[in-house]
Amino acid sequence: MNKISLNNQILLGVVSGGMLGFWLAELGQESEISQSGLYVAKLIGSLFTDLLRMVLIPLVFTSIVVGVANLRSHRQMNRVWQATLVFFMSTMLFAIALGLTAANILQPGGGLQIAMFQDAIQSFQATQMSIADFFAQFLRSLFQNPIAALAQGNVLAVVIFALLLGIALVIGGERYRNILALMQEFLELILMLVGWIMHLAPLGIMALVLQLVVTQDAGLLSTLINFVGIVIGTTLLHGLVVLPLILFLMTGMTPIRFWLGAREALITAFATSSSAATLPVTLRCAEQHLHVKRDVAGFVIPVGATMNMDGTALYEAVAALFVANLVGIELSLSQQLIVFMTAMLAAVGAPGIPSAGMVTMVVVLQSVGLPVEAIAILLPIDRLLDTFRTTVNVEGDLVGSLVVQHWTQNAEPNAQD
Ligand code: ASP
Repeated sequence: MNKISLNNQILLGVVSGGMLGFWLAELGQESEISQSGLYVAKLIGSLFTDLLRMVLIPLVFTSIVVGVANLRSHRQMNRVWQATLVFFMSTMLFAIALGLTAANILQPGGGLQIAMFQDAIQSFQATQMSIADFFAQFLRSLFQNPIAALAQGNVLAVVIFALLLGIALVIGGERYRNILALMQEFLELILMLVGWIMHLAPLGIMALVLQLVVTQDAGLLSTLINFVGIVIGTTLLHGLVVLPLILFLMTGMTPIRFWLGAREALITAFATSSSAATLPVTLRCAEQHLHVKRDVAGFVIPVGATMNMDGTALYEAVAALFVANLVGIELSLSQQLIVFMTAMLAAVGAPGIPSAGMVTMVVVLQSVGLPVEAIAILLPIDRLLDTFRTTVNVEGDLVGSLVVQHWTQNAEPNAQD
């Protein structure tokens, strides 16, 4: 029994969760078995994500401080953050371009009209927010009292504070080696906890997948099948072809080797729909399975989990064109360019939690004068679409860590480390 590896146990969890989910869905919502099954699955699934979130903040904090502090020389540090930003920005732009191209060719929402969804729209309270407000709010969320940020689980503010502290440790040098050693040991302990939590992953993931299957609205999904198909198709194209190709061309790593090393994180992202909750697993995969050095992974992965979202960027662009088709507006080239830029902003600004992209979508729709209320149509099917985009978001972070490691190593032939 002990022979089944954790990875296979997780796969087993996905399959059995899916099968049980279909069985319960078949029994119908009224059935008592179905209700109690869903209740238990919700409890187990939430406990698993709670455990991941429990270690998230200390892990982000220590891994960034240690990661940055270990990138000892200024030149090396500059290279890593520059390479990281270039990689994140270019892959997100590519994802948006892919989404926009597919949406222009395949025209999601053709044949549907917004009036068909009037009920949903009327009961939806839309929040309006201009790009300037969104940007200002984003900037203001970066710098926070670190204790408040740690306590509230504000990942982005923790990332920023940890980055600054890491830089101070680099500049301070030898004098602060005790603090660095303390952080390093703390990080190792947290990683040990992550290892324990992973033993529960098969059960947690089984419960989350079961919930996902049972709670899908098949009727709505079939009405929006064209849009759902385009989103899932292009997201998969980005995740199965574009990112692996970039990885192969940049580092020579084959897709199979990558997926074998990354699968724990990818499946967890699929089941939880949260890049943040998946972060402990992503970091573990990067370091232990894909052999990214701790100083690179410790920086690239947490920053990526909060800012690098290829799947979300792609989704925002396709969804904006879908809404435009629904209301019968043809977006001009310059308007599509605005969608291009705001989709990027919305993806960077979305925190790594379920359906965060739906909230920041307001900015994209408003930027070209589309009705924000249309989000009400997208919300009920978001649980399903979020699984795919979160998986690709996490995949982008892992590919990023490998590419950045390769670039910075090659760029520094005399590196002493
Ligand atoms: N759920 C996504 C993530 O955590 C964000 C989104 O809603 O697009 O990466």
